[in-house]
Amino acid sequence: MNIAAWLSRAGLSHPGLAAVGQGPRVAQSYGELAARAARLARALHRLGLEPGERVAIVAKNCVEYVETIFGIWHGGFAAVPANAKLHARELGYILEHSGARVCFATPGLDAEVAAHAPSSLERLIVIGSPEYEALFAADPAPVTPRDGDDLAWLFYTSGTTGRPKGAMLTHRNLAQASFAYLTDVDPAAPGDSVLHAAPMSHGSGLYMMAHVARMAVNVVPESGSFEPDEIFRLFEAWGRMSMFAAPTMVKRMVDHDGAVDPSSVRTIVYGGAPMYVEDALRALDRFGPRLAQIYGQGEAPMTITALSKQDIADREHPRWLERLGSAGRPYACVEVMIADGEDRALPAGEAGEILCRGDVVMPGYWRNPDATAQTLRGGWLHTGDVGVIDPDGYLTLKDRSKDMIISGGSNIYPREVEEVLLKHAAVREASVIGRPHPEWGEVVVAYVVGEAGANELDELCLGEIARFKRPKDYVFVEALPKNNYGKILKTELRELDAKRREKAGA
Ligand code: AMP
Repeated sequence: MNIAAWLSRAGLSHPGLAAVGQGPRVAQSYGELAARAARLARALHRLGLEPGERVAIVAKNCVEYVETIFGIWHGGFAAVPANAKLHARELGYILEHSGARVCFATPGLDAEVAAHAPSSLERLIVIGSPEYEALFAADPAPVTPRDGDDLAWLFYTSGTTGRPKGAMLTHRNLAQASFAYLTDVDPAAPGDSVLHAAPMSHGSGLYMMAHVARMAVNVVPESGSFEPDEIFRLFEAWGRMSMFAAPTMVKRMVDHDGAVDPSSVRTIVYGGAPMYVEDALRALDRFGPRLAQIYGQGEAPMTITALSKQDIADREHPRWLERLGSAGRPYACVEVMIADGEDRALPAGEAGEILCRGDVVMPGYWRNPDATAQTLRGGWLHTGDVGVIDPDGYLTLKDRSKDMIISGGSNIYPREVEEVLLKHAAVREASVIGRPHPEWGEVVVAYVVGEAGANELDELCLGEIARFKRPKDYVFVEALPKNNYGKILKTELRELDAKRREKAGA
């Protein structure tokens, strides 16, 4: 099956329904969107591309994203959406590694792409330009048949360590991830909408297909990015609107003083990084029972576990707070196992690496058989995340295994300490790392953004967690190092810490 069939089906049966929104307005109907995707497919064939070839998209969020990616699929090609905020050199790497001969870019980004474009790139087309529009003069093509195992989306990981790897997502993976979303997170109906305020090249974009399948509206903010004021206006303009938001975005919406009628929000889906209980509670107070959480990674796109809206809002449940701190239950379409270092299943309550398998899991990394064999050994995706499943089947994420601190032979999970520090009203952000220590192996160090004093924080920790988990040092900073998706870069923080120590002569 070709996932593009979902769009052509909607174009035939409901051509007048709204498909894409720009700000508060309808930009395209399903009839228009389907016709444009079919014309783009023909134009790409005419450029001499063969089905299966990769076509890159280096674009900020824009309404044309939807027609471009569906046009690529319609023609039987694989899309390579790259994060628009990457450095030109990183974009150059992705273009070369994917082997894309054609790249679509939003105005302004074309110069970035051109700066480090590999010789394999033959055509750089600026979205919205006359050259781009001319492509839609081609006659509509029929959907190119694809097998479920064929590559649809080459998803470059955020590369918090080393070069990004291209997770190969097939048509089957994307279809399953879409069904999973509609089943376990957020059912959608025709006329409902989804707002793309987070990058469409990543998490938010992965929700495009489910909404096309259900003939809902994909809405792009006019600013193309995340402005809480605009988001609130769009919630009210569209009503029944959902969105994917990184936890930092949820925090900004909660802190924003603009008014919004929460009943205009269908679901705010958060994930991609830890949501601390304190922050989840504040979000729940502000938006009511309209929050859901997902846990996943590019290799199993947003689809390992989900914490439902009902669970998040179920204050009467005896384990409500514990559940709020968890990442929920495995999606219906995957198996999740907690394993020891030899991939043996661990019982409930024991911490180990999170493994996952099912039809949403990628078949491997593009042109990287070693990393594929290592990550998919035994038929399970090795996520590199550590977690515990409780007797009720809820997964609590600890940290990535490489971020775990071992002090005096005891394992300490930074997140547990961070959760406590964030309870202090003056702490805005906190990140806990291990610092090498001659006697203890590592000691716990907290980097804090906020006005709290070290003594107060120590008191707080003494009241909440074991003594050996308390930070031995607090460093107060203006900001924490983050990547383009707002994820805190612990590797960079450890390097910073080492440099600070070196400077101080310690
Ligand atoms: P990426 O492949 O860039 O989307 O990053 C995936 C990683 O983000 C996962 O392996 C986790 O370490 C982290 N992550 C994703 N979702 C969550 C979540 N709900 N809570 C905590 N960490 C998460």
